[in-house]
Amino acid sequence: MKQSVRLLAVLAVLAIAPAVLPPYYVTLLNYIGISALVAVGLVLLTGVGGLTSFGQAAFVGVGAYTTAVLTTAENLPGWMAWAGQSPSLTLCVCPVITATIALLLGSLTLKLSGHYLPLGTIAWGISLYFLFGTLDFLGAQSGISGLPPISIGSWVMEDGSEIYYLIWAFVMAAVVTTQNLLDSREGRAIRALKGGVVMAEAMGVNTSRSRIVIFVIAALHASAAGWLYAHMQRLVNPSPFGLHHGIEYLFMAVVGGAGYVWGAVIGSGLVTLLNQWLQDWLPKLFGHAGNYEIIIFGMLLLLILHRAREGMWPAVLSLLRVKAEPKKVVDSAEALPRRTMPTRGEVILEVKDVTRRFGGLVANNNMNFSMRAGEILALIGPNGAGKSTMFNQISGVDTPTSGEIVFTGKAVAGHDSREIARLGMSRSFQHVRLLPRMSVLENVAIGTHQRGSSGVLPAAWRFERKEEERLLAEAARQIRRVGLEEHMHDEAGSLSLGQQRIIEIARALAADPCLLLLDEPAAGLRFKEKEALTELLRKLKAEGVGILLVEHDMDFVMGLVDRIVVMEFGEKIAEGLPEEIQQNERVLAAYLGGVE
Ligand code: ADP
Ligand code: MG
Repeated sequence: MKQSVRLLAVLAVLAIAPAVLPPYYVTLLNYIGISALVAVGLVLLTGVGGLTSFGQAAFVGVGAYTTAVLTTAENLPGWMAWAGQSPSLTLCVCPVITATIALLLGSLTLKLSGHYLPLGTIAWGISLYFLFGTLDFLGAQSGISGLPPISIGSWVMEDGSEIYYLIWAFVMAAVVTTQNLLDSREGRAIRALKGGVVMAEAMGVNTSRSRIVIFVIAALHASAAGWLYAHMQRLVNPSPFGLHHGIEYLFMAVVGGAGYVWGAVIGSGLVTLLNQWLQDWLPKLFGHAGNYEIIIFGMLLLLILHRAREGMWPAVLSLLRVKAEPKKVVDSAEALPRRTMPTRGEVILEVKDVTRRFGGLVANNNMNFSMRAGEILALIGPNGAGKSTMFNQISGVDTPTSGEIVFTGKAVAGHDSREIARLGMSRSFQHVRLLPRMSVLENVAIGTHQRGSSGVLPAAWRFERKEEERLLAEAARQIRRVGLEEHMHDEAGSLSLGQQRIIEIARALAADPCLLLLDEPAAGLRFKEKEALTELLRKLKAEGVGILLVEHDMDFVMGLVDRIVVMEFGEKIAEGLPEEIQQNERVLAAYLGGVE
């Protein structure tokens, strides 16, 4: 079944549900829909972006209280009076207030890493909850009642079965736009967050921006859920916006399958129904003596997570034998504009007196060398010589203690790696940094990030398909260039380590670099693969790309490179043609001294 057919089937079932189900179940479906809306935001934030938030219930509260205050206030200040006239108008105000609060909280919390981040979300989640219960104009503990129902024209949604359609329209819009977003340039940038900040930034992704974007989007989803909730209940009080509910929303996203948009819907359904049934049935079995439902609820959730670690949705997909459809590549898409390459022989990189100290250790001492366009230069030396440190400083991951690095005429030492990437430097990593569950095509497409420009909103509504076609066509072209065409639609993690290194090179090439930095590209490659890599690097050199590589494999290096810089204990001990280096006594001593 095609995706659109499946979506139509879901819509048809949703459309007839209120006609055939008893009102009790329609009400339950309303609660499920409202939770699903919050959980879809969490899929993006936590499942895809890897940022765990326990505080989403507070954003539901922000939406609910904003509309409650505006639609019930007797005397709003003149300039706000328009907003209080109907719930449809407060729907314009809620996102503005929510986004402002989210930007503020996000800029404070998203800088935290590791478990400090979830702890941060707990802190502001609790604070907002207590704020709701304390402020007089929010009705303190008793809250605000007498909210009007939502109306569209003459249609007043007073009844559960009427607001039902609005709630599920919101859910479907959230599901579809989130799926669209994930399947776009911005979506890949968000997914790249899990591959680590260093990788994403090296591909030109502004990771702090991506983090704040998903934080605000998740908050907006929660706030919309709050708006719906407030006008469904027609009253608000602090209790549904506490930490307990924040944890429950997270549960829904995780149980459904945290990385999957539909998982949010399944998870909300499962958790809400389970909660309800246990509350209905257990007292009948065990009497009213204890809160057995909470214990059993917890155990059931643990069991589900134990059985289906990835959540319910992947399990449902494999049960139905649904496979992801391979992405369409439109080869006829207009080629992306290319960078003007430096002329062959022009100096593109100069390392001048670079010293890097780590405390008392001098990892690089007064290093000097330069590179020309169309040249292949190898940086070699025993383990611990300081090669990776040099690499990191050139690519902007690390900053020299002193000295200067000039790339294409610009001083870049200490600049962001994103900025340096934009100037035309691209790299692979010593330890492969791919997203193993994403296809080879999508991994390579991350490399095209800085060659596109379309943002979140066009992506959510698919107004950027022309650019997306061009980016994917470029990624496919690079995959063919490195000879991995037959694996284009396979998961990157299913390929051999050698092939994964080649994917990284394709990803780096997708950025259209004039200087390629490769950290041990031949490690783990079989003989044939090494030959193919040599061939590829020669071709790139012929096109005028400069290549700087760190490599241990001497046969590979000697047959390929133009020049070699040898390091030992952080210093340059030799520089020259491969034949000269092979004869150099200091080099021989360093190597005979016991390594490689
Ligand atoms: P290579 O890549 O040539 O094997 P490195 O550049 O990784 O060598 O390391 C050079 C020296 O610097 C080593 O002694 C290493 O322990 C030290 N070093 C590298 N990075 C750091 C760091 N972030 N903090 C402290 N010491 C470091
Ligand atoms: Mg190293």
